[in-house]
Amino acid sequence: MTEASTDIATEAVTQQTQPIFRTDFEFNRSLPEPLAALDAISRNFYWSWQPEGTALFRDHDPELWDKCEQNPRVFLKKISGLRLYQRAADASYVKRLSTFDARFQDYLSVLTNNEQRTTNIAYFCAEYGIHNSLPNYSGGLGILAGDHLKSASDLDLPLTAVGLLYRFGYFRQKISHDGWQQESYNDVFESELALTPVVDADGERVTVAVHIRGREVVAQAWLARVGRISLYLLDTNVSTNSDVDRLITGHLYGGDVETRIVQEKVLGMGGVRLLRKLGIAPSVFHLNEGHAAFSTLELAKEYLESNPDASFAGAVEKVRSQCVFTTHTPVSAGNDSFPPQVLSECFSKEFISALKITNGEFLALGRANLADDTEYFGMTPLAIRMCRSANGVSEKHGEVSRELWLKMFPDLADAGAVPITSVTNGVHAPTWIAPLFQDLFTKTIGENWHEIVRQSGDWKQAINAIPDADIWNAHQDLKALLIAFIRERTAAKNTGDQDTIHEHENTRGLFSRDVLTIGFARRVAAYKRWDLLFSDLPRLLKMVDDADRPVQFVFAGKAHPQDRTAKTILQELMSINHDSNWQRRAVFIEDYDQEVARYLVQGVDVWMNVPRRPMEASGTSGMKAAMNGALNFSILDGWWIEGYNGENGFEIGDLSDGSDEQMDASDAESLYSTLENQVIPAYYSHDNSGLPTDWIRRMKNSIATLTPQFSSDRMVTDYLDRIYEGQ
Ligand SMILES: *Cc1c(COP(=O)(O)O)cnc(C)c1O
Repeated sequence: MTEASTDIATEAVTQQTQPIFRTDFEFNRSLPEPLAALDAISRNFYWSWQPEGTALFRDHDPELWDKCEQNPRVFLKKISGLRLYQRAADASYVKRLSTFDARFQDYLSVLTNNEQRTTNIAYFCAEYGIHNSLPNYSGGLGILAGDHLKSASDLDLPLTAVGLLYRFGYFRQKISHDGWQQESYNDVFESELALTPVVDADGERVTVAVHIRGREVVAQAWLARVGRISLYLLDTNVSTNSDVDRLITGHLYGGDVETRIVQEKVLGMGGVRLLRKLGIAPSVFHLNEGHAAFSTLELAKEYLESNPDASFAGAVEKVRSQCVFTTHTPVSAGNDSFPPQVLSECFSKEFISALKITNGEFLALGRANLADDTEYFGMTPLAIRMCRSANGVSEKHGEVSRELWLKMFPDLADAGAVPITSVTNGVHAPTWIAPLFQDLFTKTIGENWHEIVRQSGDWKQAINAIPDADIWNAHQDLKALLIAFIRERTAAKNTGDQDTIHEHENTRGLFSRDVLTIGFARRVAAYKRWDLLFSDLPRLLKMVDDADRPVQFVFAGKAHPQDRTAKTILQELMSINHDSNWQRRAVFIEDYDQEVARYLVQGVDVWMNVPRRPMEASGTSGMKAAMNGALNFSILDGWWIEGYNGENGFEIGDLSDGSDEQMDASDAESLYSTLENQVIPAYYSHDNSGLPTDWIRRMKNSIATLTPQFSSDRMVTDYLDRIYEGQ
């Protein structure tokens, strides 16, 4: 499920963002000549999925790199001239840089497949999680879209992406001393982001206008380069717009219902207009989640304008032939929908009459049940109606979606016939696999290991051939790195005030590399059942306190700002303060984001997930963990139903049905007993060599089987074969 799908009323965010429209300043620092390539490298996110790319920046000044939150644009602005000239005079560094730059230039110039392909894809999504230095995502949906673009780039697909630029992004999280989540928003300067203003042949900014609240609102376009892929982001923070309109693309999922519609108009309708202005003629429009579904109305209007004799039905037929849709949530309440009244206010009479339909017919486009006037206008029904293909994001989610939307197809006898398929999600291996493992794969498999991943048979053989000790040592080093990260993140900052609950004077006693470490990081929402682990606290603490075979836990996750229930769950977690080792062996890392996720999925032994079935449409963090040899310990839901083979992780519960209460109780029992009887004994059993051989066998099985199956290369190839080029 996506962040968009919280089932709570969203009120306007009334945070500290009185619109003070700062003007950005251009920073033109000239780099020493031998380092000049760093500038171009920093302007394309390609570096971010190359371990060497990150190292080329970080190695100048690792402390500053983290202070700048791994943002190379900010880093190059702030780094001292002395450091730069030291590097410029360092022949081995300059050689590394030129080798990397040559590889980067090569990557950009070798457009292998483009000429042969006739499919030209436009990909629409409301958020993109490409790298932390472009804070334009809230969670799973955005990360998935980012990984989609990276694989499309690696596979050299002709794909252009469209989104919005949120000036204040998504909120940053802190936990105050009483355990309550605090939110804040950071303002971003465009010059500090790896974005280029989109300009026309005369050097003028390319803009599109969208009719909103009786006014023409202008959005300007920015270009982010993601390897070979162009990502265009629309932004209403333009000085000629009114202050209110400048904030339309202010916050991601922060506004009220009306802001939401208006954002979706800019994305869907503005997005199509932008592609036209840029002369891009997609043959397929991929709407990744319903947020962009208004694009179908714009396409219909376009068609009717150039075919004056056509009817709306004819336009729908044409639009359907071009559009495909992916749904990401398994519950009704999770789908974006708007009161008919608000919708009518947001679309002008002229627009609706240009579609050659009545207001009533217009409102019916968003209803599951055409006869029910009171039903809200849903973006998912609109998308299902206007697209030739609809899919869920795992096999189970496909099945759940067919049942959920059967109501739209009264003529069909059963859910099996509902035209919704599935393409299971995947994650981008070079982004998520730890550099240390990538090195090991390069050494033992070859430079082209990520291509071998695409041939799953060869990959399995190659992984099985890696010596146990190499896998284990790499993992232990990554675990040590995670522990160092945890200690640093929870140490008291030298600011004088300890403003969060997590600042400890001395964190050196936190966590041990020899203790079984379980990670649990995800959005704090009721169905994710954060509280399941705590349903029998004495039993949990007994495991944590065990003298010979203890367990430690690392948690992270954000609660939606308006979701008090979720915030209470977090507060309860913070309040566990027993006469036990809990405080030494359990930490909560604030402000879960891509960087935190990377440390966690790469460093833990076990990745736990306990959603209430069948609410986890897919889940992707477990895939990231699996590729790093962390064993999934998870409810059989979403992707794990397809991934689990009995040897590559652990299952919690089974596939039987019951009431929520029954399932919570039986899943909690299974969670504890599987930990006590399987996970803990397996982790702590070492053979004569001193290695946990049985555990390493499972780690290898996880890396060997799950990496090919859940890589975004496989996902994007499936989209290409079955959705974009399929019929
Ligand atoms: C991968 C990722 C997610 C999505 O993980 P789920 O398993 O779907 O909860 C969310 N947030 C961040 C920062 C991620 O990296």
